[in-house]
Amino acid sequence: MSTAADAVTDALRELHARFAGLRDGLVADYIPQLALTDPDAFGLALISMDGHRYSAGDAAAPFTLQSVSKPFVYALALSALGLDEVCRWVNAEPSGEAYNAVSLEPGTGRPDNAMVNAGAIITTALIPDTPDAPRFDRILDGLSRFAGRRLDVDEQVYASEAATGDRNRALAYLLRSTGPLPVDPVAAIDTYFAQCAVRVTALDLAAMAATLAHGGVNPLTGDAVVPEPVAAQVLAVMATCGMYDASGDWLLRVGLPAKSGVSGGLIAAGPARFGLAAYSPRLDPTGTSVRGRAALGALSERLGLHLMHNP
Ligand code: GLN
Repeated sequence: MSTAADAVTDALRELHARFAGLRDGLVADYIPQLALTDPDAFGLALISMDGHRYSAGDAAAPFTLQSVSKPFVYALALSALGLDEVCRWVNAEPSGEAYNAVSLEPGTGRPDNAMVNAGAIITTALIPDTPDAPRFDRILDGLSRFAGRRLDVDEQVYASEAATGDRNRALAYLLRSTGPLPVDPVAAIDTYFAQCAVRVTALDLAAMAATLAHGGVNPLTGDAVVPEPVAAQVLAVMATCGMYDASGDWLLRVGLPAKSGVSGGLIAAGPARFGLAAYSPRLDPTGTSVRGRAALGALSERLGLHLMHNP
């Protein structure tokens, strides 16, 4: 007898086979260490609300979070400070611009949202930093709880971005120059680089996305990582801003809150249903995994996952 679980396994395997030959796109090299990645690595993973894990291909291959860290650190900031306080410093409007745009909201000087680098740098700076719980410890603990296992930092990728990340440093100085902030984005920039260098697998990403989909409770561990309203807020910002200047097209075609990263990780979440992840390092011009985009789009169509769809 064929079950719903078989259908998911079959779909992941078939899409992995279908898109494994896709060689479009380029591995990111502006962070020199990322250029050493195997361009053909390709993994898919899905975790359901009952903690069932499905995968195909290189779902256990390690890579760094990069911008996929942003929604989770945003969740930690929202949990610590609340939505209204966080919105005073980071807006929640789609920017229609690239992830690394040097652009702040006229008038307020706020970044457009927490998914672009400028907004993510402020978000990192908003995480409390105390002697007993330094900012990065809180972030690494939080990311690990989302994943359901202890994560660590790829020190080579961290050092590589810290040595070359002038544009992000410039953004941090620009943010500080725009007016009184409760925090110092320049002091937090190395923490931002470190969160981007946290090592994960596609299965970890699926668990992290599944935790957001599951109201902030990790379906593998039962750990309540963030409150339910925070999980919903993060999914809303992922839906409108998670794919940068391709967010509208993504929501139109795939219909799921999502977030991409330049190492080739990509997550999507089906609220109350599943967390989904892809890993493949060749990127399109917006910084999104080419195979990941193709596979998640096809999976959404095949399994009827589009949120606006009325089955
Ligand atoms: N660490 C990268 C940067 O700030 C993350 C960018 C991304 O994944 N889109 O440039």
